[in-house]
Amino acid sequence: MSDVRNVIIIGSGPAGYTAALYTARASLKPLVFEGAVTAGGALMNTTDVENFPGFRDGIMGPDLMDNMRAQAERFGAELVPDDIVSVDLAEEIKTVTDTMGKVHRAKAVIIATGSQHRKLGLPREDELSGRGVSWCATCDGFFFKDQDIAVIGGGDTAMEEATFLSRFAKSVTVVHRRDALRASKAMQERAFADPKIKFVWDSEVAEVQGENKLSGLTLRNIKTGETSELPVTGLFIAIGHDPRTELFKGQLNLDDEGYLKVDAPSTRTNLAGVFAAGDVVDHTYRQAITAAGTGCSSALDAERFLVALS
Ligand code: FAD
Repeated sequence: MSDVRNVIIIGSGPAGYTAALYTARASLKPLVFEGAVTAGGALMNTTDVENFPGFRDGIMGPDLMDNMRAQAERFGAELVPDDIVSVDLAEEIKTVTDTMGKVHRAKAVIIATGSQHRKLGLPREDELSGRGVSWCATCDGFFFKDQDIAVIGGGDTAMEEATFLSRFAKSVTVVHRRDALRASKAMQERAFADPKIKFVWDSEVAEVQGENKLSGLTLRNIKTGETSELPVTGLFIAIGHDPRTELFKGQLNLDDEGYLKVDAPSTRTNLAGVFAAGDVVDHTYRQAITAAGTGCSSALDAERFLVALS
């Protein structure tokens, strides 16, 4: 059984790299699958991160992730820039298979595959990410002081983002595809009562404008087909997230929205030796620091599990 690792980590965002750092420092020699195209996770797609503690002047997202990666590597984490395409987690020795078909075996597995924010699917959307286009009001709201902002969506998250953003913004325009909100009554009432928030109904974003920075939106009324211009410098897309849990369906327990279920406050899943951390579990906080925090917990849980095995 010489090829059986102590721990395999799937994912390389703040949760995966923090789990890698802790398990590496505990001499567990973790093997980390970082993902083929998205190594470093969600923060690779942003610019300034001002709310990760320890960086007084903020840090660029990719630099933060490079630092986390190097820190984990320094203590012996083995990093592989590849995807895991299948897993078998039920037995005592777990197996994960990479894109070349190679099977890797371990006594413990930590899952930190994150979640994908839903996009509008517009050509310039990714290009202007971090340059006016955002998926996280808690992360980026502060950058939009006294500016005109649009929020896309009609659920609880969209109303929460709009209400939060109205603290900073000059105006917040909620653009929604229907003529009524899906959000809870309480959230709706709070948004309707806010003098800075206005609503554009039955409409979708047809185009995002701006060269290096967002300068406005073209909206299209779904019922009439009419288009109109909305000059905004901030666009918050709040139409939901998809946790990356496809691989684990049928093996691990998922909640109604498809997130992995853990025995909180631990990171234990329903299978012994399998732990989960970060946004693949969390649909409430979704922050780099909370992902890193549960990544740390998952490493400590795995370490204790391995001690109990020996
Ligand atoms: P992720 O960062 O999503 O990482 C998941 C990793 O898993 C990825 O590397 C992916 O490649 C890998 N993976 C997935 N499937 C597989 C597989 N099958 N095999 C191998 N690897 C796999 N938070 C803040 O606190 N401050 C901010 O300023 C901030 N700004 C943000 C800006 C943007 C544009 C976005 C999208 C998010 C922002 N966030 C911010 C939120 C923050 O990025 C996330 O909460 C955090 O990255 C979640 O970490 P995670 O490790 O759980 O997952």
